Amino acid sequence: MHLIEVTPAPCLICGAGNTPDRQGSNREFIDLERDTNWNDPAIICEDCALNIGGLVGMISPDEIRRLKRELQEIKRQVHVKQANLDEVKRRARRLGIEFTEAVA
Ligand SMILES: [Zn+2]
Repeated sequence: MHLIEVTPAPCLICGAGNTPDRQGSNREFIDLERDTNWNDPAIICEDCALNIGGLVGMISPDEIRRLKRELQEIKRQVHVKQANLDEVKRRARRLGIEFTEAVA
């Protein structure tokens, strides 16, 4: 199997060819390096490959996007908490209280 950018045959599953998808980007294809019918190459598009991967537990592109957004939100919250903690430490230092780093 190998990845190709221009397919000589439509996807075996959905029939997609070299036309851009709904978002306007070109799909990649996987050449299965097998022949079907009368020596037609067996090709599947990346969308169908992702669907196949999902059947065996592979994470989908939508799920990756959702997790990235969630990670960004968590990073933002950590940043806000760290800023608040730094402010508390500064105020405590003025009162003579010094914090030591916790050992994990
Ligand atoms: Zn397809």
